[in-house]
Amino acid sequence: MSRPDRPMPRAAVTGADDLIVQGLAPAADRALMEQLGEAFRIRISSEMLGAGGAAIAAQFVPDARELDHRPEQLADPIGDDVHRIGKGLTHRYPDRVILHVTQTCEVYCRFCFRREKVGEEGILPEADLAEALAYLQATPAVREVILTGGDPLTLSSRRLSELFARLSEIPHLETIRIHTRVPVVAPDRITPQMLAAFDVPQAVWLVVHTNHADELTENARAALRRLTAAGIPLLSQTVLLKGVNADAETLETLFRALIRNRVKPYYLHHCDLAPGTHHFRTTIAEGQTIMAALRGRLSGTALPTYVLDIPGGHGKVPIGPGYLTQTAAGQWQVTDPNGQIHLYTDP
Ligand code: SF4
Repeated sequence: MSRPDRPMPRAAVTGADDLIVQGLAPAADRALMEQLGEAFRIRISSEMLGAGGAAIAAQFVPDARELDHRPEQLADPIGDDVHRIGKGLTHRYPDRVILHVTQTCEVYCRFCFRREKVGEEGILPEADLAEALAYLQATPAVREVILTGGDPLTLSSRRLSELFARLSEIPHLETIRIHTRVPVVAPDRITPQMLAAFDVPQAVWLVVHTNHADELTENARAALRRLTAAGIPLLSQTVLLKGVNADAETLETLFRALIRNRVKPYYLHHCDLAPGTHHFRTTIAEGQTIMAALRGRLSGTALPTYVLDIPGGHGKVPIGPGYLTQTAAGQWQVTDPNGQIHLYTDP
């Protein structure tokens, strides 16, 4: 038999045994990996295994530091439950809702802000989905539905097609937004059948979660091309993670790669207070220093907004750095990207 010129794709890792077989954890750590897998499911897709590298391992391979729980950490860090109005439905802002269509993902990220929920239940049961859609029908203030999870693109194309058809019948709904990691971590799932499901009268936007340029494999870039060719506008969201991407060079490389692939960097999230994620968190001042360095290097199209989801469900706000200080009524000091201060006077 001839040797393949490319490495054969590896099977996804779904537990402690797989981690050891694939050389991602020593056999001596089996009990620890099992303990960590009990607390939060283990799954690394074959695409991410093929991508390899320290930034990938840090995001998906369990780490003993996850056992370090701190008093400030919250089971529901961004307050999904505070604004939950039915199973699978969160209504936080007047004009949009979040619909958690499944709790399954193609990978389980060790820093996930929904780590207490994802992986536990599968697809939202039909009765709950029907209730959520009835709420949308009866709430004309809602113009946008955000499909999230878990990862909505783990649903089959048939289910997505049915879901999009039902959403398209809601007259006041203008936008359907998909929050997903699938185009990067499982790009083969972006099939013509799935793309056909997105062909509805509403504007369909896709926000891809990606944290490091190593995730943008050849297959991932091809999946992004298929999405843009189908007319889906693409945005990205990235989590600022110590040990993965918390420096200006790494993020500059990622944001430039995204722009080249027609993805607009949208949000850089400050890491949320999920249990057992202390080792991933930077300080806000560190994040602001990185953002200030990026502003001097990248065009505005490649620069995301650095945001914090205020713990407890109080919403998401930009967290700087700030460039403007009011010195008196109508008088401002403005700091340029090089740190020089200039004066500005209101009319
Ligand atoms: S893919 Fe998203 S929802 Fe799933 S574990 Fe990762 S961050 Fe959490």
